[in-house]
Amino acid sequence: MRKPIIAGNWKMNKTASESKTLIEQLIPLLADVTEVDVVVCPPFVNVESAAAALKGSNIALGVQNMHYEQSGAYTGEIAPSMLVELGVQYVILGHSERRQFFGETDEGVNKKTRTAIEFGLKPIVCIGETLEEREAGITNEVVCKQTKLALLGLSESEAADVVLAYEPIWAIGTGVTATADDANETIAAIRASVKEAFSGDVAAKIRIQYGGSMKPGNVSELMAKPDIDGGLIGGAALKAEDFSKVVKF
Ligand code: PEP
Repeated sequence: MRKPIIAGNWKMNKTASESKTLIEQLIPLLADVTEVDVVVCPPFVNVESAAAALKGSNIALGVQNMHYEQSGAYTGEIAPSMLVELGVQYVILGHSERRQFFGETDEGVNKKTRTAIEFGLKPIVCIGETLEEREAGITNEVVCKQTKLALLGLSESEAADVVLAYEPIWAIGTGVTATADDANETIAAIRASVKEAFSGDVAAKIRIQYGGSMKPGNVSELMAKPDIDGGLIGGAALKAEDFSKVVKF
């Protein structure tokens, strides 16, 4: 049985004080949640204060990116050891906004995934098709290729511990959600590609989230589907009440 995981991707929103306020609002709302892994991913500069605010709570801390090298001359980048020292547990990798605006490639995402695992960070690896790819009928081909490339070179136990986030790009931040049946069908295809690349055991264990305008009004329908193991939440993660409703689907 896979434990659901709901992660809030705050993107480039919330100052340090706003992050602290949101966390202080979330903690009592989510205090009784034991059956879902809950993660919040604030911007880098707020990570230290967020870690302090989250201490002792059942909410884990994640970030939205990291570099694949351990240290060195990479101006403006963040190394995995810096995150580990601050108590970060999860790292979102290969979000479509990073692929689209910052030139991230499948190869880079694979390097980051391997480094994250090496440092004990749990990767949340994002994959998803564009509207053009969906309309061309190549969704499964695209997302299964992204999945296999992201997980390349991992052992079975490492792959089983990765979280995948299937996010159709046309559904992110648009208010348009994939239907629960469509999302489940694509996620089932992703799971089948994990089976092909690793084994049935890894495919049965790996958690695959849906992301793309998931919110209080559609979360229960999506989470009722057998292959959907959670959500990566953008807009609805920015308000404590909305996010807690999603977590308590
Ligand atoms: C996201 O950025 O990962 C996301 C799913 O955003 P939204 O929920 O706003 O569509």
